[in-house]
Amino acid sequence: MTRLASPLDRMLSRYDAVVVGSGYGGGVAASRLARMGKRVAVLERGRELVTGEFPARFSDLRGEMQLVGKQVRLGSPTGLYDVRLGADMHVLVGCGLGGGSLINAGVALRPDPRVFRDSVWPGQIAQDGLIDEGFARAARWVRPARDPAAATQTKYKALASASRALGQGPVAAPVVVSFEDCINPAGIAQPACTRCGDCCGGCNVGAKNTVALTYLPDAVRHGAEIFTHARVRHVTKGGDGRWQVYFERLAGAGADGPSSVAADMVVLAAGTLGSTEILLRSREQGLALSDRLGARFSANGDIIAFGYGAKIPVNAIGVGHPPKVADIEVGACVSGQIEIVDATDVAKSLTIQEGVLPSALAPILPVLFIPNGRLLGALKSLIAGVYKGPFAGLQTFFAVSHDSASGRLVLEDDRLALSWPGAKDEPVYQRLDAALEALARGAGGSYVKNPLAGTMMGQQPATAHPLGGCGMGAERGQGVVNHKCQIFDGRAGAGSADVHEGLYVMDGAIMPRSLGVNPLLTITALAERAMLHVARDRGLRFDAEPRHGAAPVSVHAPGAVREAMGSDPSRSHLA
Ligand SMILES: Cc1cc2nc3c(=O)[nH]c(=O)nc-3n(C[C@H](O)[C@H](O)[C@H](O)COP(=O)(O)OP(=O)(O)OC[C@H]3O[C@@H](n4cnc5c(N)ncnc54)[C@H](O)[C@@H]3O)c2cc1C
Ligand code: SF4
Repeated sequence: MTRLASPLDRMLSRYDAVVVGSGYGGGVAASRLARMGKRVAVLERGRELVTGEFPARFSDLRGEMQLVGKQVRLGSPTGLYDVRLGADMHVLVGCGLGGGSLINAGVALRPDPRVFRDSVWPGQIAQDGLIDEGFARAARWVRPARDPAAATQTKYKALASASRALGQGPVAAPVVVSFEDCINPAGIAQPACTRCGDCCGGCNVGAKNTVALTYLPDAVRHGAEIFTHARVRHVTKGGDGRWQVYFERLAGAGADGPSSVAADMVVLAAGTLGSTEILLRSREQGLALSDRLGARFSANGDIIAFGYGAKIPVNAIGVGHPPKVADIEVGACVSGQIEIVDATDVAKSLTIQEGVLPSALAPILPVLFIPNGRLLGALKSLIAGVYKGPFAGLQTFFAVSHDSASGRLVLEDDRLALSWPGAKDEPVYQRLDAALEALARGAGGSYVKNPLAGTMMGQQPATAHPLGGCGMGAERGQGVVNHKCQIFDGRAGAGSADVHEGLYVMDGAIMPRSLGVNPLLTITALAERAMLHVARDRGLRFDAEPRHGAAPVSVHAPGAVREAMGSDPSRSHLA
């Protein structure tokens, strides 16, 4: 079998640990628990797409969109791009084995140390020293690197030229991309990045260090079983003290198989939206939790915006793999960033990255950019025209800063909804608009904040960095989980620091505030840190060292890591 996932009808009725979701938090939990010798099952709602199967054409991309709002539900519930349309804010997250890592830009940054000094975090985070070990382990596994060729790329040079307007130049951005052929820590042979720019469409080369090519194959190599098309609805605690995880089988799951599974330990890692939704529904089923559940949702002060009509070439539209046009080297999705640090107020610090739109979007760019009702660019623009015509000067910006984390996630008619009435007036958006406008003008173009404003997307802000909802806190009155990611027990009579034994959240939902940088590295580090505590609390040992089989495994067939299992003595418990 070349895939990591197993058919649902192979699921056992009980595991030592069930991990819900397979993004950064879920990948870390699955790998580390399997290395501790636990029998682990991972339940993921999306599909497994292996290298080479990511959308390459617009027609493929359309099939990968799911749009869900109060009055709209379009697309397949296993589509790769999960867009939640909200009255106050839209949110984009990934859906598939590997979660957001499949479609993100891979920028991996550690937050300003002042972020962790905020009293909103439980004190142990800054004090017990394990956060540094968490970041070190995360970096060893997702391997952030700066492209040695970054400064030679056209889009980087365009950012450097435009940045004179801000008085501060760019630096190469650390991204989780392999710029040389390598055998990664999970034993997968990753080819070098071709600099095709398609990272946010899904890497068809296998050079992006996704969770699907790192932590998940490591988990499988150590005996974890992975099941896709399983959307978890809620968890309950049985009389025997075990957790029961209830899920729906989505189309594609096959006719047979269970719809619930028991476990001594459950790690919710379904992302900010998914984990909060599961807990909100579990509360409706009787699980007593903190009143803070759903609160402190943050968009991480994050926006995507554009500059159109630059007088200098930018070349920020992906060419894909195999390349759709010859002789254009775009670079990874993000090569350069401008870091503006406010020494007196961390909330005013911001990072601006130049980004690339995936090649599958190229055919529709002319219809997206319609300022003042006039179609810019040729409607009949063929793909090559997009690369050579006015769109060769299209700038895409990813900007990250801080917001007040004042959103609230709630359940409405059994569906997750975000309420944040003041979202569009958050001061961060004015700061970002001013900086991005200067950059677009600096390149001789104009700032296009939201090309989709005339559609059902409306004027609401949108984020790809949702955080919070199950935030950390020192005790139940302040958060939903403690510093070890254990969920506080909300039963009457429970102490304010008491937890539900064996129940955890490990993903973006646990952030009690904005991070001010792209969140993947922090999510991974806090999950690695939590796993160190899990092992300590249970007297278990595990190492996080790379473990390879005799033969490297292809990015096109990650499931081949199973063949190395029999020779691993740490797995004798599963024999
Ligand atoms: C286009 C884009 C670009 C981005 N660029 C960057 C970047 O450059 N750097 C960065 O740091 N971050 C970036 N991000 C954000 C980053 O990818 C996310 O913050 C990160 O993936 C979140 O990790 P997580 O573990 O919290 O959850 P996720 O990665 O979202 O994983 C959660 C998983 O759980 C699954 N799931 C959800 N609900 C259920 C359920 N009920 N049952 C079973 N499974 C479920 C989901 O399908 C998903 O696979 C980007 C995001 C997007 C969309
Ligand atoms: S630029 Fe292309 S090859 Fe490199 S990581 Fe991104 S998608 Fe993969």
